[in-house]
Amino acid sequence: MPNTDSVNILLVDDQPSKLLSYEAILSELGENLIQAGSAREALERLLKYDIAVVLIDVIMPELDGFELAAMVRAHPRFQNIPMIFVSALAQSDLDRVRGYEQGAVDYVPVPVVPELLRAKVRVFAELYRKTRQLELLNAELERRVEERTAELARANADLEQRVEERTREREKALAQVHEMQKLESLGQLTGGVAHDFNNLLTTILSNLDLLSKKHGNDPTSGRLLGGAIRSAERGASLTKRMLAFARKQELRPAVFDPAKLIAGMEDMLKASLGPSIRITSDLGPIPYLIRADPNQLELAILNLALNARDAMPRGGDLVIKLRAEKVDASAQPLSAGDYVCISIIDTGTGMDEVTLKRAAEPFFTTKGVAKGTGLGLSMVYGLVAQSDGWIRMSSQPGHGTTVELFFPLSKSSPPAKPAREMQTTAIADMPKCILVVDDEVLVAESISEMLSDLGHTVHIAYSGALALELVHAHTEIELVLTDHAMPGMTGVELASAIRKFKPNLPIVLGSGYAGLPEGTDLQLPRLSKPYRQDDLRSLIASIIWAK
Ligand code: ADP
Ligand code: MG
Repeated sequence: MPNTDSVNILLVDDQPSKLLSYEAILSELGENLIQAGSAREALERLLKYDIAVVLIDVIMPELDGFELAAMVRAHPRFQNIPMIFVSALAQSDLDRVRGYEQGAVDYVPVPVVPELLRAKVRVFAELYRKTRQLELLNAELERRVEERTAELARANADLEQRVEERTREREKALAQVHEMQKLESLGQLTGGVAHDFNNLLTTILSNLDLLSKKHGNDPTSGRLLGGAIRSAERGASLTKRMLAFARKQELRPAVFDPAKLIAGMEDMLKASLGPSIRITSDLGPIPYLIRADPNQLELAILNLALNARDAMPRGGDLVIKLRAEKVDASAQPLSAGDYVCISIIDTGTGMDEVTLKRAAEPFFTTKGVAKGTGLGLSMVYGLVAQSDGWIRMSSQPGHGTTVELFFPLSKSSPPAKPAREMQTTAIADMPKCILVVDDEVLVAESISEMLSDLGHTVHIAYSGALALELVHAHTEIELVLTDHAMPGMTGVELASAIRKFKPNLPIVLGSGYAGLPEGTDLQLPRLSKPYRQDDLRSLIASIIWAK
């Protein structure tokens, strides 16, 4: 019975009766029996089917079996095909030799013994089947090996990619730390420079103020003085931004809803950005509260909007978005917690990697000397960092820029109404006796000049120790205006020393620097440098008023 695993057996004989008898003998093997009545037919069948074994009658009319065998063997496909010769001749040595010469592998004598023929054919059929199975197994094995190899290669590539990604991530994190350290030391440097500048500007501005009081009526002097004052004011505003970057700015934090602040900036932004830039905002439905300096945040957003404008010379879109974001512990340098994120997104030129990396550095600008100060992003960076927040920028050349400002979400409720404005009254103009303390002679003198010009009596001390002596000696002193950062005794130390014997003497800490020690409970009123005569005037008014 033919089965699915059966093999093909070719029976070649010119006598149909013989073919029939072979069939009868072999049918019980269950293989496919294919008949050929001539050598030509035999070759045809061989080419058409996969034949396991050929049974050949040695004597046929057209050519004898040995000749057919020779032809079959000559074909490269059939070089190894097994053949069984059936011969009426006696099993002589000659026949056998001839048979084996042709590569024949077996010989069945006539009269055919059915069991013998069956046994021989079965052996070859089995051999063929086994060989075929082996081939299939081999192919399967090869396929599996190939599959495994491919899998392994994929896994390897995967691993390599992951290792590469890790390395890149790690490098990016080392680069970020490096960048932060660089900004940190730049901050210290900038802070120091700004501190010195403030002292210089205080002197310059106060002298200019006094000069213009005296000579401002003369048109030429007035014009020259006006120009000088404007330049010095510009210097003062740059110095402020340097201080902001150094996180040494005097911040006046308040709890407020940034959405309201942004909405309130709309007109100003429209005016500053011009008609070719479309401004849209997505401030979300939920009001969030943050604790920051609202004026400085306004300045920061304006700076970012101006950068966006500069990056969109042919117009474009500016989008301001607000959202809350939970930050987990892994998000260095922010500490874990809830934040409010303000994103400012533009469709401008974008930045390449190098520009993006350096953009927040103070004085880094790509806009040319007269156009850019390189302090815009520095100010923003300093502000968010000083407010316990962070700035994140992403940009690609040709794909615009996104700047995200993170501020800690405040859980407290905003004050019912804004803090009372400082009052300026005529009381300020009443002459006072004031002690000015500053280790910088020029600064101390110019402050003294401004105060005298307002009609006050002024004492000067160039150190904390000297100041202490003067306060002891001159009981008529009604107000002390002291610098903080001084060698020997700082302004805060001086204040606490004075408080011990004169608890009600008002002391104002004048500083260009927010770098005051934390946790000082002295609650001293502050005045930030560089100060002008008007600042002094309103400060004195508020101090006297509060008393
Ligand atoms: P400035 O605006 O004075 O150049 P900034 O600190 O504000 O200084 O910006 C520094 C630099 O960062 C810019 O000169 C510019 O190259 C790049 N930059 C900042 N914001 C953007 C932006 N939105 N699109 C493209 N480049 C920007
Ligand atoms: Mg700018």
